[in-house]
Amino acid sequence: MSDDFELETLALHTGIHRSQFNEHSEALYLTSSFVFDSAAQAAARFSGAEPGNIYSRFTNPTVTAFEERLAALEGAEACVATASGMSAILACVMGLLSAGDHVVASRSLFGATVSLFTNILKRFNIETTFVSATDIAAWEAAVKPNTKLLFIETPSNPLTEISDIAALAAVAKKAGAWLAVDNCFCSPALQRPLALGADLVIHSATKYLEGQGRVLGGAVLGKRDLVMEQGVFGFLRTAGPSLSPFNAWVILKGMETLKVRMEMHCANALQIARWLEAQPGVARVHYPGLPSHPQHALAQRQQKAGGGIVSFELKNGKEAAWRVVDSVRLISITANLGDTKSTLTHPATTTHARISQESRDAAGITDGLLRIAVGLEAIKDIKADLARGLNAS
Ligand SMILES: *Cc1c(COP(=O)(O)O)cnc(C)c1O
Repeated sequence: MSDDFELETLALHTGIHRSQFNEHSEALYLTSSFVFDSAAQAAARFSGAEPGNIYSRFTNPTVTAFEERLAALEGAEACVATASGMSAILACVMGLLSAGDHVVASRSLFGATVSLFTNILKRFNIETTFVSATDIAAWEAAVKPNTKLLFIETPSNPLTEISDIAALAAVAKKAGAWLAVDNCFCSPALQRPLALGADLVIHSATKYLEGQGRVLGGAVLGKRDLVMEQGVFGFLRTAGPSLSPFNAWVILKGMETLKVRMEMHCANALQIARWLEAQPGVARVHYPGLPSHPQHALAQRQQKAGGGIVSFELKNGKEAAWRVVDSVRLISITANLGDTKSTLTHPATTTHARISQESRDAAGITDGLLRIAVGLEAIKDIKADLARGLNAS
């Protein structure tokens, strides 16, 4: 596809390779393996002398379509699809790091990402130092001679802290390390980390890319030499956390509407954030689109809009937070985000319950904190649903 096309056009037309039937909508190739014309062709495919599909753990045309489309949206040379967002992070680490390597990671990461770095990778002698998402000097100080990877999520989950991608890319470059950005909250519709100097972009396609809460998926994007044969793809085709072609097909259809959905999620979230700030039971609202957000200026430079996630702290702690959760009738009480339907989560007792109280305190995840992933319902209906529990507290 031409570089001249805008994101919404690329999201509709990239990755389409029509079959002999000339279908208009993307075909779903639900097959585990591919047939060869001859013994010689099979040998040539396996040796890599002839390009082409062999087995869906390695490649599949529907999965390839997803990879080509996401690469176009992120402006990436290469994309490797994975079974979930977490397997994207795992494939990135296993593909690129070795025992004895060191990682510097943001303290404000998705709960399972923190667990992966602290509980699992540590057993394989990959050590991680956690630092503030926003303090560049702390990142510089944490770098060691064996630091290979800097890992951030911006905006962070659930507090929507903004890390300066360009500044951290400079720290990584000086350290001879790679900067990986989990771009889940923004999606390429709002933020393109590679253009700001990041080396790798991670996605949970489960969230906004798919957009309707149906399937899991993930991806790692970056330069071809980093993500293809020697790196992330090499791990994936051997170890197997590959994206199912069915899931790739569902996500491809979701990506077609990414831009219009993100615009609406952002517009609704900004209205909810402003409204929450005016509620007497609310102590604080975390939303990058609000002037009260500590990194509001950076967010305005780095992202097209504030995103769809709003976190807010109730004055009366866990009891008040649970009252809001237990009073909703429209909004779903669920941990997913990026869905067309609004979802509400109490991070301290769900997504971040398995990390220690100490880590939660350090990350600012208080017992009174709620996270709402604002959906596409009418704004009036979302407000009324939240107001019921807020007014009771
Ligand atoms: C959900 C999420 C992940 C993990 O993705 P899965 O598809 O659930 O494995 C990683 N990072 C962020 C920011 C997320 O919200």
